[in-house]
Amino acid sequence: MRPELSDYSHLAGGKVREIYEVDDKTLLLVASDRISAFDYSLEPAIPDKGRILTATSMFFFDLLSDVPNHLAGPIDDERIPEDVLGRAMVVKRLDMVPFECVARGYLTGSGKKEYDATGRVCGVKLPDGLEEASKLPEPIFTPATKAEQGDHDENVTFDFVANKVGSELAGRLRDATLEVYTRAAEYAETKGIILADTKFEFGLDEGGELVLADEVLTPDSSRYWPADGYEEGKNQPSFDKQYVRNWLKSPKSGWDPSDGSLPPELPGSVVEATRDRYIEAYERLSGRRFADWPGQHA
Ligand code: ATP
Ligand code: MG
Repeated sequence: MRPELSDYSHLAGGKVREIYEVDDKTLLLVASDRISAFDYSLEPAIPDKGRILTATSMFFFDLLSDVPNHLAGPIDDERIPEDVLGRAMVVKRLDMVPFECVARGYLTGSGKKEYDATGRVCGVKLPDGLEEASKLPEPIFTPATKAEQGDHDENVTFDFVANKVGSELAGRLRDATLEVYTRAAEYAETKGIILADTKFEFGLDEGGELVLADEVLTPDSSRYWPADGYEEGKNQPSFDKQYVRNWLKSPKSGWDPSDGSLPPELPGSVVEATRDRYIEAYERLSGRRFADWPGQHA
């Protein structure tokens, strides 16, 4: 008999995931179907998104199985309640490093903004003349603070991280971030997909070992672009929630964030198109069918 979710105490809820305590060393991380953009939770949810993200994370943990990760059981672990099967992971409870460890191989988003203003991203000097979506000479480590709920994450320099956690750990974070990014980007390329950037979260286990935690290489934590049609200097069509962001910013949504109003409800067509993109990213990257993934269709 599997436990009920209510058998566990609820420790915390983020914009996307809920954390439950299995025991003092183990957590249950449950990915909901909620979607956020511009730091707002949007309505309605994207059916199956939590299962798609979990499938994607599990695929990459497996692909990178020589990198220590936080998994403490399989996807059908008997400690996972029936009604969250496929969207939940049993993980080791870690002492989380309070930074988002971002690697960028291409220039876009907040990195592009910073580059335009200063010629640098998180303190890293870049060559002149780069454009939107330019490939960088080599991948760079661009950490960010983990903002409290409701706040924006803020890009910081390597030295800022080193000041907070010590230069030895900061160096390990940078090396691990760049190594895992590089391997995942090389893999994605074989599937015709560019991994423009991605965010990892690491924690330390009881032995002080650095462990890859949270979700990994999902469309929520990464920018994936179709390789065919990639063109420097242009906004790339992507597999992540950029589609939703673009819709919100377009006149079609009628949303004016400057007056402090909440984003409008997503129309059914936008929900469907977003769901399709998350599934397409998973299926293209993993070579598997989402229909075979465990759990109930939302
Ligand atoms: P938000 O998404 O609202 O900005 P968030 O990213 O903190 O906030 P979620 O992604 O919804 O929230 O929830 C996941 C949380 O679980 C994160 O705070 C993450 O740091 C934490 N976490 C992930 N893996 C582990 C682990 N193995 N041990 C302890 N905490 C973890
Ligand atoms: Mg998160």
